[in-house]
Parts: sequence; structure tokens; C-alpha cells
Amino acid sequence: MNMTKKILVIEDETFVRENILELLDAEGIEGIGAENGNIGIDLAREQKPDLILCDVMMPALDGYGVLTALRQDSALTAIPFIFLTAKAAKADFRQGMELGADDYLTKPFTRAELLGAIATRFKKQAAVQKFYDSELQVAKEQLNYLMHHDSLTGLPNQLSLREQFNQVQTTETQSLIPVLCLGLDRFNQVNNNLGQAFGDLLLQAVAQRLTACVGSKDIVARLNADRFAIILATIHHKKDAIQVAQAILRSFSQTFVVQEQELFVTASIGMALSPRDGADIEQLLARANQAMVQAKQQGGDLYQWYSSVLNTGSSDNLALQTSLRHALERNELEVYYQPQVNLRTGQIMGAEALLRWQHPERGMVSPGKFIPIAEETGLIVPIGEWVLQTACQQTKDWQRAGFSSLRVAVNLSSRQFNQVDLRQRLVKILNQTALQPQYLELELTESMLIKNVEVAIRRLNALKALGVEIAIDDFGTGYSSLSYLQQFPFDVLKIDQCFVRNIMDNSSNAAITQAIIQMAKSLKLKLIAEGVETETELAFVCQHQCDGMQGYLFSRPLSANEFEKLLINRKSLPIPIGANSID
Ligand code: C2E
Ligand code: MG
Ligand code: MG
Repeated sequence: MNMTKKILVIEDETFVRENILELLDAEGIEGIGAENGNIGIDLAREQKPDLILCDVMMPALDGYGVLTALRQDSALTAIPFIFLTAKAAKADFRQGMELGADDYLTKPFTRAELLGAIATRFKKQAAVQKFYDSELQVAKEQLNYLMHHDSLTGLPNQLSLREQFNQVQTTETQSLIPVLCLGLDRFNQVNNNLGQAFGDLLLQAVAQRLTACVGSKDIVARLNADRFAIILATIHHKKDAIQVAQAILRSFSQTFVVQEQELFVTASIGMALSPRDGADIEQLLARANQAMVQAKQQGGDLYQWYSSVLNTGSSDNLALQTSLRHALERNELEVYYQPQVNLRTGQIMGAEALLRWQHPERGMVSPGKFIPIAEETGLIVPIGEWVLQTACQQTKDWQRAGFSSLRVAVNLSSRQFNQVDLRQRLVKILNQTALQPQYLELELTESMLIKNVEVAIRRLNALKALGVEIAIDDFGTGYSSLSYLQQFPFDVLKIDQCFVRNIMDNSSNAAITQAIIQMAKSLKLKLIAEGVETETELAFVCQHQCDGMQGYLFSRPLSANEFEKLLINRKSLPIPIGANSID
């Protein structure tokens, strides 16, 4: 028996009490004697014994009274309790048991009987204790898990991330540790339009995909909403970190399937390096987050390193904003034209107007950089109108010069699309330039439409009523599922270049592209493949019955002068033989 056990003996007969205490002592058990019930209760409270042996018949407070009192005290109620009695009547047994006694010993009892009864209690108590200990252990582990994990995705949370990062930092004292912050592009729109439950399922799928993209020693955590953090614990070079970021972005080019809906989601990744960019995880995350915001501002689907220069990023934006205000008046803006080729004839059928900014000091600033700024500041409205005016005028001029069926596609920004008087402005431009509306195509992106579907459909119908055509641009990079497409009155669907790219190496890309094409066909939309750069890509889009193509394979966007040369030279695209034979 355990040396540390303590037994309280409550017995008014001194002889019996001393006898038991001696016996216990011989067994190496600490015995405490009490000569009446009240002292017994006091000692029980004070000493918290492991077991109580108690006489039934005692003057003043008897054994039943003692047991009743003990069972009412939560600290004492679980102590095993054995009655000692000279009575052996059945009714007395019952009374004691009903009060919660664990056993009964009838006096006189032998040493073996006493020790046997004590041993049985301790064994039972040990078993119960073991059960509670394991329950407690489970509860502790659960609590620990909950404290360290995000309940939605099961990923580590920010608390856990900090702990794990500190561990990595102590083991990798000499090395650089890349810290990534990833946000989904336009996630709010998913929540707003498809519901939060849907958004939650998407986040779970994203969590799984991210985990699959990194090594088992790397850490993926969810920070909040659609923000995730990744610590590349085993990677110590910038270029390797870049590869992981690229792999993650690439993995997003495959659709997510949520509630049987296919969804395209892109992400933006900001990256920081420990210890260069911060001493602790909070600072590193803040900087990675800053870089991520920057990536989002550039249109998303990008990774971006934090750099201290980036702090001036906003002031750089500010400088761009200021000079953009003057760009129009200073004639720094120019419209370029990228030919769109008819895939049945190989002839140029039209052009997409693409804005260029020839900055006096910075040289050519890409629209990817300045359009978001123009959009944010509202400058896009006058600029966009100028593009429309210029492109329509230019197209009309070319038509007059003999290219009478030439069409032009102009990109509309979200702000422009949401202008209340867009329709009137458009009418005015068409009147001024005398371009017939059927030669003008307006390119919109999914993200502009998804916020308020009904309003968007109404606006689109109002524009279509003018006779202009509507194209959905960059299709596949936003959020909509294929079936979503049917609701909108589009005429043209432009398959984004990321689906055209590497079609042959990437079978899931090919499958998605095929699904998009089929869908568009069944909706009787004209299909234009964007960003066709290689013969292989051309063969693929021809085989799949795309109506038109646009891409470097035929021509980059050109200045009006250069484009005119192509028209005059009747430059055409050799269409692969038999490409259009399947139907
Ligand atoms: P977008 O409308 O999807 O335009 C297609 C972009 O793909 C253009 O980039 C074009 O130069 C590029 N591209 C064309 N063929 C190829 C190819 O074979 N390979 C590759 N890698 N790229 C190709 P750009 O001109 O830099 O324009 C970027 C985006 O800026 C446009 O994407 C459009 O969303 C926006 N944008 C351009 N001009 C305007 C404008 O006047 N108004 C508005 N609101 N947005 C514009
Ligand atoms: Mg476009
Ligand atoms: Mg596009």
C-alpha cells in the first residue's frame, strides 16, 4: 500500500481505535484518530484523509451523522468511507449505504478483513482517479487545441503562429526566415454575393490548398477573415521563397469547387524576411501585410516583397496621382491598339484600345499601375471618357479610310460603369464621332458586376439598348461560376490569358478552358482568347472553336500609326489547317 496514504479513524472506543491505528502504522499508513464524530469531521476538513473508518454507534454525533455531514461538504464528499459496527442488522447496512458509505466492517473483524476492505477502496479510488485524469487530459488538450487553432479551418491561429515562429527562430538562429501574408482578392464579394457560409467553405478549401503547397515543416496559419500567414521554416533564400509564392499563386489557377459550384479565386501575397524586416512575428506580419496590400493594389494575383522603399510606396502613389492629374492636359496619355484576329479568316477584325502613359521622367507607366490609382481617385472618369472618345474617333477614321467593318473594344472601369449618366455620355461620344454603336464593344470584368447583380443587369441592358456590344473581360479570374454567366446579357467572352497559357502542360487548365468554351458556346457568346503567345496555344484555341484571338503571337498593342500599317499591309494570321474542322 502507498506510504503516503492517510486514514482517519473515528471511533469512541479507545481500545478499538488504538488497535486500528497500530495496525495501520505497521502497514506504513498514516493513521489519525478521532474519539468522537465532531472531532472526526474537523479532522477530516483539516487533514483531507484518503479514507475514513468510522464507528456507527457513538454518543452525541453518531456515524450516520458524520457521514451525512461529510457528504454535504464538496471537498470531502469523495473520500471513501467505511463503517465499523457491532450491529449487523440488514436495516443498518441499508441506512449506511443509502447515505453513501462505501463499505461495512462488522466488529470484531480480522486484520485481513480490515486491510482487504481498505485495499479495495484504494484500488477503486485509483481507477476512478485514473479515469478523471485521462478525462482531464483530454479536456486540457482540447482547450489547448482550441486556443491554438482557428476553428473554421483547423489551421494554427495567430497565438500558435507566434509560438511556432519563436521556436523556428531559436533553432535557425543564423538564417533568414521568410514570412508570407496571403489575402484572397475580392473575398468580400464572395461573402456578399454568395453568403458567408459559402465563404467559410471556400476558406476551408483555401486552407487545404495552402497546406498542400508548403512543406510539412512550414507553418500555415489563419490570421483572420481571408488572411493567412505562412512561415517557410525550412527555406532560407529569397529565390526559394519566391518559388513557393509562385507555386501558391499557380495552385489558385485551378478552380475551387464549393457546394458544387466552380469558383475562380486569386490571391495576393506579401513577403517579409526575418530578421531583416522585423525582430518579432508581429512586425514581420505587419510588413508582409503591407506588401500584400500593395500587391492587391496592383491588381492582385501577385506576390510582393516588403521593402523599406515600400513605405514610400504610398508617397510614390501620391506622386503618381499628382502627375496623373496633369497627364491628360499634358498629352502624356496615348491609346494603343492591339489587333483582334478573326480565327476563321485570319484577318484583323478589330482592336482593343489599351491606355498608355508616357511619363516624362518615369517613361512608360503600365496601366496595371496607374489605372488602380485613377480608379481610386476618380480620375478614371475623365481619363476613361477620353479613351472612349479617342478610340471611337480613331476607329471611325480607319473605317472611313476603307476598313469599314473594323471594330473597337474599350475597357470600362468599375467607376465608369457605375456612373449614373454613363449611357448619356456614351450617346454623346457616339454622336460626336459618328461611330455606329455596333462597332463598339465595352469590356467589363466580373468583379464590377458581382456586387449588385440586378443593378448590373439593368445597366448592361440599358447599354445594349444603344446597340453596343458587351464583352466580359479576363473571364475566369474573378469569382463567378460558369453558370453565373448566364444571367448577364454578354455578347463576347474573353478567356483570360492565364487559361490560355501553358494549356498543354497543365491539363486542369485545359479542362477549365474547355468548360468555359463549351459554356460560352451554349450561350451563343462570341469567344475571344486573350494572350495567345505560341503556335500551340493558337492550335488549341482554334481547335476549340474560339472566334477570335488577341496576343503577342500576332501582335503586341501598337500605337495608332503602327496599327494602321498592319491594316494597310493586310497583315493576317496563318490559321492552322483543319483547326476549325471539329464542331
Ligand atoms: P486587359 O483588358 O485584359 O488587356 C489585356 C492585357 O494583356 C493588356 O495589358 C495587353 O497588353 C496584354 N496582352 C495582350 N496580349 C498579350 C500576350 O500575348 N501576352 C501577354 N503576356 N500579355 C498580353 P495592358 O495593356 O498592360 O493592360 C492591362 C490592363 O489594364 C487591361 O487588361 C485593362 O484591364 C486595363 N486597361 C488598359 N487600358 C485601359 C483603359 O483604357 N481603361 C480601363 N478602365 N482599363 C484599361
Ligand atoms: Mg480588356
Ligand atoms: Mg483581359
